[in-house]
Amino acid sequence: MTENVLYSFIICFLLCGPVVRTHSLRGEIDNEYSPLGSGVSEGWTAVPWISDDFNFGQISGVSVDPSDNVYLFHRGDRTWDYDTFTNNNVYSKKENGPIKEATILIFTSEGKLLNKLGANMFFLPHGITVDNDFNIYVTDVALHQVMKLSPNSSKILLKLGEDFVPGTDLKHFCKPTSVAVLANGDFFVADGYCNSRIMKFNSEGKLILHWGRRPSGYRPDDYQLQIPHALAVIEDKGLLCTADRENGRIMCYTTKNGNYSAQYSSDYMGSRLFSVAYSPVSGGELFVVNGKSSSSLIHVQGFVLSLNGKILGSFGAGSLKTPHDIATSSNGSIVYVVEIGPNRAWKFVYNAGTTVHQITETPKLFPQESKPALLNNSSDEGEGLTGAILVTISCFVFAFGLLIVVMYYSKSRKSGNADTKRLLSNLDY
Ligand code: ZN
Repeated sequence: MTENVLYSFIICFLLCGPVVRTHSLRGEIDNEYSPLGSGVSEGWTAVPWISDDFNFGQISGVSVDPSDNVYLFHRGDRTWDYDTFTNNNVYSKKENGPIKEATILIFTSEGKLLNKLGANMFFLPHGITVDNDFNIYVTDVALHQVMKLSPNSSKILLKLGEDFVPGTDLKHFCKPTSVAVLANGDFFVADGYCNSRIMKFNSEGKLILHWGRRPSGYRPDDYQLQIPHALAVIEDKGLLCTADRENGRIMCYTTKNGNYSAQYSSDYMGSRLFSVAYSPVSGGELFVVNGKSSSSLIHVQGFVLSLNGKILGSFGAGSLKTPHDIATSSNGSIVYVVEIGPNRAWKFVYNAGTTVHQITETPKLFPQESKPALLNNSSDEGEGLTGAILVTISCFVFAFGLLIVVMYYSKSRKSGNADTKRLLSNLDY
């Protein structure tokens, strides 16, 4: 009996939750837009591009070069499993040798294969980035290394880190995830799964700067990162942004000195953000993919954000399963998303003729300029007795719902909830 009552309240809360949210942000959220639902893809359409004949392994990285050609970095027959690394982060399958097949595949935006690189070089690919001069930067989490390859070739121009040796000092990486490159050739490395730091090197590979550390408490501060998983340079604003994966936020710092500048997170995007890309179009847009969350209300999908904190649109809900990286064309009209199971590369094209509804629901957005907008709208709602009553009722419903969710979560933990187990086992990749 008690359980039935509990579940009734849960269902009631699930139904009421979005209404409460919409009401509390009345005037900001377009009610026609339903980011909590699946299949929302306003303005963006998935289009076929690469033939099904390609047999990819896990596609861990994607990047777009200045000619708008697309580079995929995949793992061939390798996967990242529970026994891939020792407890000390040492790769345990070295004896299998490098991946024999080409791991870097270059396509036109129409899906025509241009070149295949990176055979017999890598053990567990992760990130790939192409700079303005067509140099290719890759990270390998098994090798704990970052490499710079010459354009359209597998020739190594620069290699940082020691083969298969993880470390915390300034000459080693530990499962580095991603690289971003400035126009002058200086570049950043997200290092990564264990060290939770970002390192800046000059074009010769000399370390200039580093920042970031692992979280130590419940609420991470602006420099405490929980797997900086991808990087994106906002060159025109002098910023570097990282997908702070397990903290569920995009963190942005100045490229010059690593000072904290801004962060982006939203209840709509959830608690795990895997990758971020940037286009200077329309004053600057960030493209973000999230991951599976413990909440069934969060759909795995991509989001388009303006730099001042508006969610401009979303794409891929219902299609994307395990997005791992994202890249955008130079004009921001095409985004590519790669996945690690099923192993797919998606192309989403923006349809300029469609109306895109803007959402400004970014409750945890910084810098602070965005907050007055929320506060102003709240005060508008408070005008008049009806508004006050509605707001009060909403607060009670929300508080009660929160209590129920906490009780349910507690119950799920005790009974070994399957989602919780899956999340724990998915912490790597
Ligand atoms: Zn990863």
